[in-house]
Amino acid sequence: MKAKKSRLRTLRTVTQWAMFLFVAVLALVKYLKEIGVVIPLPEISLHAVCPFGGVVTVYEFLATGGLVQKLHSSALALMVIGLLVAFLFGPIFCGYFCPLGTWQEWIGKLGRKLFKKKYNRLVPRAADKYLRYLRYIVLGAVVYQTAVTAKLVFADVDPYYALFNFYTGEVAFTAILILIAVTLLSLLVERPWCKYFCPYGALLGLFNLIHIFPVRRRESTCIHCKKCDAACPMNITVSTGDAVRSHQCITCHECLSGLACPVEDTVIVAAGKGGKQA
Ligand code: SF4
Ligand code: SF4
Repeated sequence: MKAKKSRLRTLRTVTQWAMFLFVAVLALVKYLKEIGVVIPLPEISLHAVCPFGGVVTVYEFLATGGLVQKLHSSALALMVIGLLVAFLFGPIFCGYFCPLGTWQEWIGKLGRKLFKKKYNRLVPRAADKYLRYLRYIVLGAVVYQTAVTAKLVFADVDPYYALFNFYTGEVAFTAILILIAVTLLSLLVERPWCKYFCPYGALLGLFNLIHIFPVRRRESTCIHCKKCDAACPMNITVSTGDAVRSHQCITCHECLSGLACPVEDTVIVAAGKGGKQA
């Protein structure tokens, strides 16, 4: 059980670090080339490797056959791959790959040390419940505005782009402010951007309702210790349902047997329909 635990945790940690460093290096290489430094590496724009770019340009692509300003066709390909993977496993991009999610998690580790048991429990439940739907409004507004203007409007408020380009002078002041706010909020709430604002997380989260391999809990072996609930960064109550179908799950797998759950083969990833949903 311990070996399995460390393998799963290691896989997630390595994936998160690799993705974070990959994006940081891409942004740095592009900046250095732009200011005239000669580096034997290809210049790749972050917009070319952003699957959400594919989502916002779908309308433009269908209407005119072109792409929204600054975007690349690779973004469309990544969007399709991202949606197929989400159909199988849910928002695994959020749990394992997104560098902004990783950034919030890292800051959250400090917040957990500062606020101990109060950390990630500070937003009143009644408000939290409704605030979690805000990200669908953001998604609708971004897709609509991009379709109307054919410009990458989200870039002006995107903390992900700001995180990796803040030093380049090409990031809007609003995006920098939002990055600072998200970073500070992450000291109090785990993944505040993911929970309340992220439009890509909103889209991927919908796949939780239908994806093939959800997190499942076996009632027959569950000892109701609620360790799965305590481990969930998105405050999902895993311990009462048979399958996690919450639109907020980020497929981080922290609740699984071998990680949070102390009983073998009780919280698992498995195909199947039906049962009470968490
Ligand atoms: S919800 Fe958004 S910011 Fe959070 S991990 Fe997913 S894509 Fe990244
Ligand atoms: S339910 Fe499990 S997999 Fe989903 S976000 Fe919570 S801990 Fe992660």
